[in-house]
Amino acid sequence: MNASDNSGNSGSAGVATPVTSNFIRHIIEQDLHSGKHAGRVQTRFPPEPNGFLHIGHAKSICLNFGTAQANDGRCNLRFDDTNPEKESQEFINSIMADIQWLGFSWSGEIRYASSYFEALFEFALQLIRAGKAYVCSLTPEQAREYRGNLTSPGRESPYRNRSIKENLDLFIRMRAGEFSDGTHSLRARIDMASPNINMRDPVIYRIRHVEHHQTGAQWPIYPMYDYAHCISDAIECITHSLCTLEFEDHRPLYDWILQNLDKSSLHAASDGVTTEAEYVLPRQIEFARLNINYTVMSKRKLKELVIQGFVNGWDDPRMPTLSGLRRRGYTPASIRNFCERVGISRSESVVDVGMLEHSIREDLDRSSPRAMCVLRPLKVTLRNYPQGASETLILPCHPKETSMGARELPFGRELFIDAADFEEVPPPQYKRLSPGAEVRLRGAYVIRCEEIVKDASGQPVELICSYDNATLGVNPQGRKVAGVIHWVPAGEALDVEVRIYDRLFSKENPDDKNGGDYKECLNPDSLLVMTGCKAEPSLRTALPEASFQFEREGYFCVDRLDSTADRMVFNRTVTLRDSWAKISS
Ligand code: ATP
Ligand code: MG
Repeated sequence: MNASDNSGNSGSAGVATPVTSNFIRHIIEQDLHSGKHAGRVQTRFPPEPNGFLHIGHAKSICLNFGTAQANDGRCNLRFDDTNPEKESQEFINSIMADIQWLGFSWSGEIRYASSYFEALFEFALQLIRAGKAYVCSLTPEQAREYRGNLTSPGRESPYRNRSIKENLDLFIRMRAGEFSDGTHSLRARIDMASPNINMRDPVIYRIRHVEHHQTGAQWPIYPMYDYAHCISDAIECITHSLCTLEFEDHRPLYDWILQNLDKSSLHAASDGVTTEAEYVLPRQIEFARLNINYTVMSKRKLKELVIQGFVNGWDDPRMPTLSGLRRRGYTPASIRNFCERVGISRSESVVDVGMLEHSIREDLDRSSPRAMCVLRPLKVTLRNYPQGASETLILPCHPKETSMGARELPFGRELFIDAADFEEVPPPQYKRLSPGAEVRLRGAYVIRCEEIVKDASGQPVELICSYDNATLGVNPQGRKVAGVIHWVPAGEALDVEVRIYDRLFSKENPDDKNGGDYKECLNPDSLLVMTGCKAEPSLRTALPEASFQFEREGYFCVDRLDSTADRMVFNRTVTLRDSWAKISS
C-alpha cells in the first residue's frame, strides 16, 4: 500500500474548531521541535466495527483528526477488525458516514487491520524464530488459572519451552486450519511473574473458525487486539497513537512487541511514507475517556438497548450515538465545540449532560429560524374580526440575523393557541390568557378573552375573544399587556407530529453498580409522541433535518427518516432553558 498518492494531507475538510492547548498537543510540539519524526504528525482513529459510534468516540475523532489538522499532518481511519463474530459491514458503513458527517475526512484509503493479517502472521513467525513466542496448548480454563491474579504471580505453561521448530510447525498448522477452536494459542514469551498481568505471556493469536467480513474464510486464526494494534500503527507509520486510559497498562506490551520485532522489517512492511533512517516506532499516549451523566457510553450496553427494543434502533434520537444525536437535531459544529470545551486530560471525570445541551443551544440560537407550533391546540375565534376576511403578516425569521429574511403568516378570525397558555382561574401574576385578560399574539394583535366554550366534561374547547386592531406591532399608550403567546392560523395550519424527548435514564449514574442493572433506571417518560399539533404553514417546505426554534417551546428539527410531505414529524432537540450556561457563568 502506498499513501504517498494522497495529495490532500490535512486531517479534515473545512472545519474550523478553536484550538486550546492540552498535554498531547504539548508532546507533539516537543516532538516537532526535536525533529523526532522528521516533522511528521500521523494519527489514526481505530474503531472496531461492532456498533455505531457514540459521543465518546466523537472526542477521540476530534482529538485524532484535529491534532493532525493542527499540525499539517494526516489521520487514518482504520477499522480494528480482529473480532469477526461481532463485526459487520453495516457498522463499517455507519462509522464512515458518522465521521464524514462530523466534518472530518481521513487520509487516503480506508485501512483495515485485517488487510495486515498476512504481515501480522509473518511477524508472529519472526517472534517464534527469535524464541519470543510459543504455541500453548493449555485449555482456555487452564490458561486462566495459570495466569494468576493481581496478588499472585502466574505460573509458566508446560508448553513454554517447546522448541522453535515445534512452535513453527504447530503455528503453521494452526493457520492451515488443522486444529479446532481453543485447542492451541500463540503466546508472547515475556514474564509470567510480571506484576502487570498483560505481560504474563499474553495470547497473541487464537483459533477461530469463523468467516470474516473482509477476508472471508481465509483465516482460521485471528490476532488479538494488543498484538494487531501496535503493528498496524507501525505499518501505517503512526507517530502518536492516541487512546483512552484503560490501555495504559497495555502500553508495556505495545512497546514490547514492537521492540522485539526487527525494525527494518517493520519499515519494509510499512506504508513507506518515511525513509528507513527516519522511521520511528509509534508512541502510545493515553487520555481520559468521555463520560456524561444520565448516559451510558459503552457499545455493549447501547447494543443491548437496541436488540432488546428499549429504543428504536441505533439512531433513536434518545441514544448518545452520533446518528441518534444527528437525528435529534444536533449539528456537527455543536458536537465539535462540545468536545473542544470538554478538553483532553488524564484524569477521569463525568461531564454534565447540560454542557452538551448548552453547545447545541448556542449553535441553534444563532442559526435556526424561528417558527410557531402549537402543541396542544385550543381554538380561538375573534368575534370582532370580519367574517371571511384575512390578512398576511410578515414576521422576521430571526430576531437578530436579518439576513435570514422574513416569513409570511396568514391571520384571520380563527386561530389556535396552546391550551397551556390559558387558565380559567389564573394564579397571581399570570401572564397568559384568562377570562377578561389581555395578551399579545406574537407578531400580531392584542386579544382579550371574553367567553369560554366548554365540552360536556367542562373542558374549554374554544375561546371567544376580541382583538384590538390598533395594536398590530404597537402597544397603545398606557396599555399594559401581561404577556406574549404563540399562535397559528386555524385554516392554514399544518397538522404535524411532535416527538418530545427527555433523558433516556432517570439516574445520574446509570452504571452505578450498587444501583442494580443500568436498564432499571431507564426513564419511562423519555419519549412523548404528540399528534395533532398545529404548525405555521411556512414550515411546509422545511427539508429533512432543518432546525427551528419553535417560539417558547424549544428547538426542533424535521425528522430525517419519518417525516413526509403529508405528515411532517418534528423532533425536539432541546428545550430553551439553559441551566448549564447559568451554572458555569
Ligand atoms: P466502548 O467502550 O464504547 O465499547 P470501544 O473503546 O470498545 O468503545 P472502539 O471502537 O475500540 O470502541 O473505539 C475506537 C476509539 O475510540 C478508541 O481509540 C477508543 O479509545 C475511543 N473511545 C471509545 N470510547 C471513548 C470515550 N468514551 N471517550 C473517548 N474516546 C473513546
Ligand atoms: Mg475498544
